[in-house]
Amino acid sequence: MFEKVTIIGMGLIGSSVARIILKKRLAKVLVAADASLDVCKRVHDLGLAHKVTDNLTEAVEGADLIMIAVPVGAMRIVAERIAPALKQGAIVTDTGSVKMAVIDAVKPFCRPGVEFVPGHPIAGTEFSGPEAGFTELFENRWCVLTPLPDTSVRAVEKVTKLWEECSARIEIMDPAHHDLVLGITSHLPHLIAYTIVGTATELEDDIKSDVIKFSASGFRDFTRIAASDPVMWRDIFLNNKSAVLEVLQRFSEDLTALQKAIRQGNGDYLYDVFTKTRAIRKQIVEQGQAE
Ligand code: NAP
Repeated sequence: MFEKVTIIGMGLIGSSVARIILKKRLAKVLVAADASLDVCKRVHDLGLAHKVTDNLTEAVEGADLIMIAVPVGAMRIVAERIAPALKQGAIVTDTGSVKMAVIDAVKPFCRPGVEFVPGHPIAGTEFSGPEAGFTELFENRWCVLTPLPDTSVRAVEKVTKLWEECSARIEIMDPAHHDLVLGITSHLPHLIAYTIVGTATELEDDIKSDVIKFSASGFRDFTRIAASDPVMWRDIFLNNKSAVLEVLQRFSEDLTALQKAIRQGNGDYLYDVFTKTRAIRKQIVEQGQAE
């Protein structure tokens, strides 16, 4: 499928793609690059690529496809560093959870003849690092691609094929729309989880120990989300600021309405809201996105 693929950032996402590329022999040469020497050593020991290096420029030389899978806040520096070494006709793609800011960060460094296909696989766990990856991560999950007006059909097709080999389902989307939708479905829930678990950590010791003891009653699910990588999530909130603030505003208004209904004993209102939310869950289950 490819002569040479380079993956930059060998954490959960990068190492999962690397495992699939090796398993299915999708590239003659797979190069893994990471800024961290420690990560490089672990990737080498795990046997996740044909070549492992912390030299990004060297890593991308002659590559047909370059996947940048670093935290959103590191996209610009990586794009800047690799730009002079990209070959004519190379396709650059990324896996960042935010699209508008990543396009602003990467696109200026893609000279004519270098294609950029922004992407976001909507799959993950709360774990990070090269040991966390696995070949089934993207199975039946969506991967959103947000091509730019000057991205060629050939480049989009190549990246689509790679994600299809990862068993993902492809959706083409406008980047601003992506950021708003993900603001609601992913970024806001993480912010709520960080808040709830953060509130619990501020409680007095005796209450806190009972919170942990009885966590199965709902709190536990929030702790899983709130265990997600702090660097990754810091970067997401800083780079999807306007969409997150927009959905947060709507959320606050809805929360205030629920607060008022509880205070006024308005059971009908609560029942209506909870019935609608149950229907959303049913739709998610029906679309096979519940697990
Ligand atoms: P991760 O496990 O933390 O891995 C990121 C890797 O990139 C780390 O090895 C990190 O090294 C390395 N890195 C950081 N800065 C770098 C730089 N300047 N140059 C080269 N390597 C650098 O992260 P991940 O979960 O795989 O996420 C990667 C990207 O995919 C992020 O943009 C994220 O938003 C997106 N994404 C994540 C998920 C998810 O659920 N995790 C889902 C979809 C998309 P150090 O550890 O030494 O910093």
